[in-house]
Amino acid sequence: MDQIRIKGLEIYARHGVYEEEKKMGQRFQVDAALHMDTRRAGRSDDLEASTDYGAVCRRLEEVLTGNCYNLIEAAAEYAAQDILLSFPLVEKVTLELHKPQAPIPLPFSDVSVRIDRGWHTAYIALGSNMGDRAAWLELGRSGLEKHPACRDVKMASLYGSLPYGGVEQEDFVNSALSLRTLLSPYELLDVLHGLEREAGRERLVRWGPRTLDLDLIFYDDLVLDDPRLTIPHPDLENRDFVLLPLCELAPAYRHPLTRKTVRQMLDELRDRGEGQVTDKKASDLQKTDGYGARR
Ligand code: ATP
Ligand code: CA
Ligand code: CA
Repeated sequence: MDQIRIKGLEIYARHGVYEEEKKMGQRFQVDAALHMDTRRAGRSDDLEASTDYGAVCRRLEEVLTGNCYNLIEAAAEYAAQDILLSFPLVEKVTLELHKPQAPIPLPFSDVSVRIDRGWHTAYIALGSNMGDRAAWLELGRSGLEKHPACRDVKMASLYGSLPYGGVEQEDFVNSALSLRTLLSPYELLDVLHGLEREAGRERLVRWGPRTLDLDLIFYDDLVLDDPRLTIPHPDLENRDFVLLPLCELAPAYRHPLTRKTVRQMLDELRDRGEGQVTDKKASDLQKTDGYGARR
């Protein structure tokens, strides 16, 4: 991807663990690479179509002088996040923060941290089988939309489905959403768990009834196999209630391990004659169990 690069931006700031550093301050330097598509700006020769590097420098100055961090890691983290949130065309930022006057009692020329931060694409499956299911799904969607590190949240249609996994329980309403996020997969999982808790979710029976279930299906092309978080979701290919809504948002998205597209996985599942999705409407499934009435 194209880059706009800033080198050696000088900023006098007060980051450091020692009192003296916070009181007196010292000279810092920033190098930044803004990863973005510059073609439209290049073709049109119009600043509106680009990212104003002068404005980026002023913003870096504001963030780095307006706050006082112990660590240059923290200063770099917040500065990178601020740039990504303030300049929408920037997809990724590489930021190096130098502290050439750091209190090291030996001769040295520079110490710095360099980080890469950027927007990621995530796909999430939503499900509910208690009370006003559509409203619980909406709580999940709007919770993510309101999150400062998430943007471009899009939700698929709602699907009625029969319970999956052998536990006898009420029918589900399912959907999927896509979003762009600055959160890491684990941070995003914590946000999903927070929203499930907000919906009053209790984990009593595995695969049992729930007000709101939010599963992380894909995160870019990441493959992660960890008990706390497995990506892509391991049972994805057997669930039409995940693949059908996902197919509205990203039919051509490829599973990073099998290389099958979402549409292909859905077609294969239908060919096997499997599936939980029914033609019941979300509104027909509301308030069938009295749970909604208790809220
Ligand atoms: P399933 O994941 O088979 O749909 P479930 O959604 O009913 O089952 P939960 O009780 O909601 O399972 O989650 C159990 C744990 O699974 C969570 O605490 C979480 O740490 C872990 N987990 C692993 N991978 C994922 C993922 N991709 N998305 C969400 N949770 C995951
Ligand atoms: Ca689930
Ligand atoms: Ca879950």
